[in-house]
Amino acid sequence: MPELPEVQNFAQALQINYVGQSFTEIVFHRENLRYPFEKEKLKKIFANGNVFLKCFREGKQLILETTGGFVQVSLGMTGSFKEANKNEVEKHQHVTLNFKNGQSLAFLDPRRFGFWKVRDSDEPKKIICDPLNQEDLEQLFVSTQINQKSCSVKDMLMDQNLIGGIGNIYALEALFLAGVSPLKNCDQISKIKWRKLSEQIPSLLNKAIEHGGSSISTYRSLNGEKGSFQKLHLVYGRENEKCLKKKCNGVILRVPQSGRSSWYCPLCQN
Ligand SMILES: [Zn+2]
Repeated sequence: MPELPEVQNFAQALQINYVGQSFTEIVFHRENLRYPFEKEKLKKIFANGNVFLKCFREGKQLILETTGGFVQVSLGMTGSFKEANKNEVEKHQHVTLNFKNGQSLAFLDPRRFGFWKVRDSDEPKKIICDPLNQEDLEQLFVSTQINQKSCSVKDMLMDQNLIGGIGNIYALEALFLAGVSPLKNCDQISKIKWRKLSEQIPSLLNKAIEHGGSSISTYRSLNGEKGSFQKLHLVYGRENEKCLKKKCNGVILRVPQSGRSSWYCPLCQN
């Protein structure tokens, strides 16, 4: 599933390669993804002559802004963008954006859990914490009721209503870097550890963005490249391997937690 670094990667690539161009049309190759396409509204947003103004990330979603309005795009489990092939519609290509300069942008999504949702301009924006912002995280962890919650710290980090964009991989990697067990409850964590977490999360995510994200299963960037950050995972997917923290003799464990797997070192994350 694409997480924040992968989504950020698409936001930057679309911003660099397509923003500023005028559209000619949006083409739908099926009726729905996770939800039915709001075709008439989307046609107005990507109408002939409208200009692509901006592409940015909000949590784990992309916002495409044109002179005709805003669209929120979720990549779901397997969504991606790529330069479209003019001569054929690829398998799993569900939407194509055509531009006046001859470029075409394809949206592919084999599992079809993604969606394109029109955002009305008067819709209030939900304020959620951006995990790339250390001060916001520290504020959330230290000054709110979060540190009194009795749910696990990992479930809290992945709660998209609190923090936008942290999924399983980066929650586990950040907890390892901060030396906190994913199984610990929020009310069992010291102030020092909360600070560490708020430092580690943005630095980890920025590093992952630099490496093009983590290529688990089908993820490819706009130019078809795989991310390479998975090679730098310290705990995710490393059960029974040696802990990579200096001077730690621990062995990474994998345990089921809230319907997913958690990997951690029982010695340096306790
Ligand atoms: Zn360890």
